[in-house]
Order: sequence, then C-alpha cells, then structure tokens
Amino acid sequence: MNEHDSERIAGLLEGDGYQRASVLEEADVMVLNTCCIRENADNKLYGALGRLKAVKAKRPDALIAVAGCLAQKDRELVRERAGHVDVVFGTHNVHRAAELVDHARRHGPVVEILAETVRDDAEAFPSALPARREAEHSAWVTIQIGCDNNCTFCIVPAVRGPEISRPFGELVDEVRALAAGGVNEVTLLGQNVNSYGRDLALSRRGSGSGASAAGDGCVSTNGNDLGVSAAGDGCVSANGNDLGASAAGDGCVSANGNDLGASADGDGCVNVTGNGRGQDPPGDDAWWCGSRWTSDRRARPLFADLLREVGEIDGIRRVRFTSPHPKDLRPETIAAMAEVPAVCEHLHLPLQSGSDAVLRAMRRGYTAERYLERLRAARAAVEDLAVSTDIIVGFPGETEQDFVQTLEVAAEARYDSAFTFIFSPRPGTAAAEMGDRFVPHDVSVERYERLRRVIERSSRLANEARIGRVEEVVVEGPSKKDSSVTTGRTRRNTLVHFPSPSGGAPRPGTYARVEVASAAANFLQGSLVDIETPPDVTAATAVPASAGRRLIPVAVAAT
Ligand code: SF4
Repeated sequence: MNEHDSERIAGLLEGDGYQRASVLEEADVMVLNTCCIRENADNKLYGALGRLKAVKAKRPDALIAVAGCLAQKDRELVRERAGHVDVVFGTHNVHRAAELVDHARRHGPVVEILAETVRDDAEAFPSALPARREAEHSAWVTIQIGCDNNCTFCIVPAVRGPEISRPFGELVDEVRALAAGGVNEVTLLGQNVNSYGRDLALSRRGSGSGASAAGDGCVSTNGNDLGVSAAGDGCVSANGNDLGASAAGDGCVSANGNDLGASADGDGCVNVTGNGRGQDPPGDDAWWCGSRWTSDRRARPLFADLLREVGEIDGIRRVRFTSPHPKDLRPETIAAMAEVPAVCEHLHLPLQSGSDAVLRAMRRGYTAERYLERLRAARAAVEDLAVSTDIIVGFPGETEQDFVQTLEVAAEARYDSAFTFIFSPRPGTAAAEMGDRFVPHDVSVERYERLRRVIERSSRLANEARIGRVEEVVVEGPSKKDSSVTTGRTRRNTLVHFPSPSGGAPRPGTYARVEVASAAANFLQGSLVDIETPPDVTAATAVPASAGRRLIPVAVAAT
C-alpha cells in the first residue's frame, strides 16, 4: 500500500509539472513516504531527514515533504524534530500532495493531517489518482482503504481509519482503462480484500436487514456465516472483540469505527450503513455493488464478484490480490479463484500465529484449526495453488508451547513462502502496552531461526516439484545481479531466472515460457522455451503536465 501511495504521489507531482530526478541531490522536491508498520520506522525517517538536511543546506529552495502513516501518527512532531521539513501530510490526504508542495513553496511550511477519510468522491482513494507506475504492464488497484479489524499489534486502523470500499463500477472502469493502456496484470489492494464491499452492500440495502439469514451462506457484518460464529469460539466481531463480549461505551469501536452508541449518521465517520460517506453520491446499485449482486441482493462477498468481473476484462491476463484476512475468506471467493482463469494460483493468507491463545491475544478472529480448514478448502478447489503467509514470532506472552503450535501449523500448511517477523512493539498499539509479557529477544531470535528452517524446507520442496515443468513467466527485466540473466514471475508468484536471449532481456511484461531446470528455496532457474510478442504498452494512463508549470526534478522514496 505504501509503495502504491508513493506511485500516486509521484504521479500527482508529475501531473503538476514536475519531473523525476535521477540524482537525489538535484531534486527540488524530496518526498519521504513513511510506513510505521516497518520496524524502526522512526529511526529510519529521522536518519534520512538528517541526511537530507545537508542537501537542503546547499540548496535552500529544495523542499522536503514527509508523508505516510508515520506522518499521520507524529503530525507536528515531525517538524519539531526536523525543522527543515517543509510539508507534512498523512495517509488521508495523499491526493493533496501537489497542492501542499505548491503551498509550501509560496507560503512556507505546512502540516496537514486529516483525521479520517470523509470525502464522498473518489479522489480520496489512491487508485483514483494519477500514478507513475514502476512497471508499465502491471498496476496496483486500491479497492478499499482502512480496516475495521483491531489486531493488537497493528497501527493501521489508527492511521488509516475505518474500512471504506471503492464503488464496484468505478473499479471495473479503472481496470478496463488500464487494460486499454497495455496493462495485463493487476493486483487488487486492500487491508482486508475479503471484506471488500461489505459497506457498499449494507448501504444499498438500506438498513441491511432482511437479506441475511443464519445458515444461508450469507455473511454477517463480521464476515462469518451467520450461525457459524459463536461467542467464546475465538472469533471476533466487527469491533475486534470476542462475540458477545462487546458492549456500548466500553471503549471498543463498532463496525463504523466509533464507540458503540456514539456514532451518528453524517458525522463524517462511517455511518450505520457502513458506507463511510454519510450520504451516497448518485449511482445505481450495479455501479455500487456490481450486477451480480444486484440480481439477487444476497449478502455475500462482493470481492468474489469483483474477481470474476475484473478477470473477464479483455487484455487482463493475471489478477492478484493482497491481503485477504483468513476469517473473511469465503467459499464464494475460493470458487472465483478456481473458476476465473485470469486469477493467479497464489493465495497470501496471513497466519500470524499457530497458537489459539496467541491468536486471541492478537484479536485475529480465527483459530488455528479454522485457518487450516480454509486453507484446505482453497487447496482442494484451486489446482496448483501456491500459499504464502505472514508470521510474527515472539508476540507478548508467547510460550514455547505456543511457538511449537506455530511450527506445527506452518509445517501442515506447507507454505511456498513466508514473511516472518520478530515481534516489535508499534507505539499506539495494544500490544505495545504488554511490556510485562514481552518475550526476551534472544528467545525470539532462536524461535525465528527454527521457523525459518521449517518454512525454507517447504519452500524448497515446493520449488523442487516444479523442476522439469514449463512455466508461464512474465518478464520483470534483467536480473539486478547479472544483466545477462532475465528475471520473471510465474502465476504462482515464484521468481524465475533464465539466460537472456541474444537480443537482451525481453521487455518487462513480455510473456515467456521457461523450462525449469533447478530450484532453490526462493527462486527457480531454467531456460527460455519461447516468448510471445511483447504487449503494446501505450501511455494511455499517463497524466499530461500542467500547462505553464515549470518542470523541476522530484524524487519520491518509501522509507
Ligand atoms: S486486519 Fe489486522 S493486521 Fe490487517 S490491517 Fe487490519 S488491523 Fe492490521
């Protein structure tokens, strides 16, 4: 999401007449787009700002902007600690990047942090903004912003706000436009893509009553089948508490992001119908929720409908998505993955822990067994499915027995790859307050190493099973380590290296077939069988520079 925001900021600035600088020292605008989910984000930001101070000392007219969720969290503190920063803006006003830079150039430093996304129009959504894409054949499409969950280790709900979905029709139109411009691969982005559209459908049904019934395969507001989820079963409601445990005024938030009972329609927060807009802008039901939903108005995951609709668009050959929340992975979504050829055989399903006790402490809303059930269902339905995950080691209170359960689930899940992290407290989260239960660092490091070995074993086995197969690969470009080697990705999202043809690495976005000859834990190696004619990439989505603006260099980096 953060990298995607960087593309949007760059796109907005280019749209305002700026040009990308090849050397940082020559940039007239330097944007640091922060992510406080990353470890040591504060140190990295202020370290980078210290280095930029020297650049600014030589060229006082150069502007420095700090964006992203650390800016959202620290607000004025950024300028207090680094007075040479000219612009500070948060996650809810990415769309104002160019205006704020312009304001700072004319009137001096500016800090603008919106508390939440309250706009009715699409400009608040990063994907609706112009972008400078890093790869012309591949695009990210933000389908929702914010998150209604309340994982105790995560700062996202605090800095990104409650979940708001983009209208279905708008997304389909955007992907059609991208395909017309030569994009053949899209990645649908959201904090919890599986709950995409829940707010839209609730809104279009008015009060949301009448359409959903227990046991009918419909989902409740917490994404579980009504009747399947029960108090005390380790599942959480939309406010992140165990079902039955939540009460108005208890300081917990409801699905609309407010304390229960404290929310009012039109207050700028997500309203009781969950659409985040107070009043819906005009548009028919099909535009908001898709024609499949309109035909029966059942409560079901609109994300499944979106996968089907986007996967049918001419020119789109690969559809990916990230990240789904395991508690919201519905059979309809698995069916869409299995039945829509363009949807890639790759599922990123964050586990976080294999211990039910730790999952409860994390407020994840599923048990290890329920996670594995859903994984088995996905594997049974989607042939040749690759699965990746995220796992946190050393969450506060994690015992050796808890950790062994994580190893057991990881072994059973047979992950193709995993992002594994040692727990690190993020200020402002509930987990950061659990200091009395922090796991000693050396214990976490030792557990991390054991987990790494389990993951590496299954990754290696999965990759070795590909030897001898011919894989469809989309070229990403020459290898960074060896320019005579081309790098690409399979549908299962595995990196593949192969010797470049005599004319050099094919253009990024080219489809090639590669016969796999050898495998390591993190990549495959092979030889080129053949390549397709490269796609005709046009600049259909590029944004023209504003007339009359001076072209000046700009550098944008994620930190
Ligand atoms: S689902 Fe949990 S981890 Fe993911 S963004 Fe929401 S709160 Fe954070």
